[in-house]
Amino acid sequence: MPEIEKRNCQDAESCFFEAATSKLKIDGNLLQFLRTPFREIKVEIPLIKEDGSLKVLSGYRVQHNNVLGPFKGGLRYHPAVNMGEFRALAALMTWKCALVGIPFGGGKGGIACDPKEFTTRELRELTKSFTAKMHHIFGPRLDVPAPDVGTNPKVMAWIYEEYNKYNGHSPGVVTGKPVELGGSYGRLEATGRGVAMITGFVLERLKRDIRAQRVAIQGFGNVGSYTAKFLNEMGAKVVAVSDASGGILNERGIDTQGLFLHSKKEGRLAGFANAESITNEELLALRCDVLIPAALDGVIHDGNVDKVRASLIVEAANSPLTYEAHINLVERGIPVIPDILVNAGGVTVSYFEWVQNVQGYRWEEDRVDSELEKTMLKAAEAVFKTAESEKVDYRTAAYLIAVSRVAKAMELTGF
Ligand code: NAD
Repeated sequence: MPEIEKRNCQDAESCFFEAATSKLKIDGNLLQFLRTPFREIKVEIPLIKEDGSLKVLSGYRVQHNNVLGPFKGGLRYHPAVNMGEFRALAALMTWKCALVGIPFGGGKGGIACDPKEFTTRELRELTKSFTAKMHHIFGPRLDVPAPDVGTNPKVMAWIYEEYNKYNGHSPGVVTGKPVELGGSYGRLEATGRGVAMITGFVLERLKRDIRAQRVAIQGFGNVGSYTAKFLNEMGAKVVAVSDASGGILNERGIDTQGLFLHSKKEGRLAGFANAESITNEELLALRCDVLIPAALDGVIHDGNVDKVRASLIVEAANSPLTYEAHINLVERGIPVIPDILVNAGGVTVSYFEWVQNVQGYRWEEDRVDSELEKTMLKAAEAVFKTAESEKVDYRTAAYLIAVSRVAKAMELTGF
């Protein structure tokens, strides 16, 4: 493996890409194309707050590759975002869509802000100004945003409304919309449902009984909370969860439904009955069977990876491990199931939502769930088969499949 220094999420993605493509026979020029984003845009958004003061915020969109279909990827509202992070996350979307075989490319963007600092009116204003500045590069056949950290169906509804002002009724411009505006049944839960499906698949392959698994989950937002719910329903014991305010632990198992209601009401996990408090670092170091990072990128790195004692890592967040952390765990024989497979349920049901919008025909929820399962398990099967035949770890296997598909399409178009 190449010698590298301490790396951030952008470095991790490019190291994973390089490690995988060193095993593929891809023309050097094509490799350069695959690395390079198609377009990167930064806009400044002035916002007059309700108290009359002015705040100017930066908005971003990176469009990585669209050879397989429109750019697709979330919008993140978080104070620590920057172009480098979006560049890496947009590339991950290209590989993820190719891996699960849906006709989308990769994009990512958002606004550098803490949404908790704004009123609903201010957030709506901010989102609409951002959309007004980006609408020429968004579109159902161009670039289709979706929710990510700090955004939700309400934010998608504001984008939908603003985009329609300029372009006429175009529900397929965003996914993860409220069902009332053309959102898909099952989209809200889809990423967590997919994480649980993949975890179940992997445990079966590893011949581990799901009912004997003690699971720790970092992050209790959209992805973490639904992952906890579905794994709990499948018989696993969720013993620890955390959010930005800290974590909770109950060795006998957490009442995930009760916690869901508590966190919705209080806006945080702290204060939940029948559990002891732990820190996020303690959660990552917990002796457990399955560790699921479902919050932010780069949380397991060379400073804390030696403390990780879980025997399986399931990456529900995008890029939660640095390159060094990945290598460390793989060398210790701890399977790491990669983000581009694990959390692909979200973009898969986003694709189903887009299909329904384009066709003007709504699917029932059981159709969404069963098509999701088919897609996720087919991709998981391919990753396990490639890992075995190529004698590589699961992440390298996933990249080998995804990058080959995008490279083949680029060759066919004559790039
Ligand atoms: P969210 O905003 O709904 O939830 C994020 C969670 O992370 C919250 O519980 C928050 O408190 C917690 N968090 C934030 N900072 C933290 C910190 N420093 N330490 C511990 N916890 C912290 O976001 P989400 O949609 O659940 O996304 C989580 C991850 O999953 C991200 O990496 C995102 O890119 C990825 N993802 C999301 C989707 C989706 O459909 N929402 C799809 C694929 C991947």
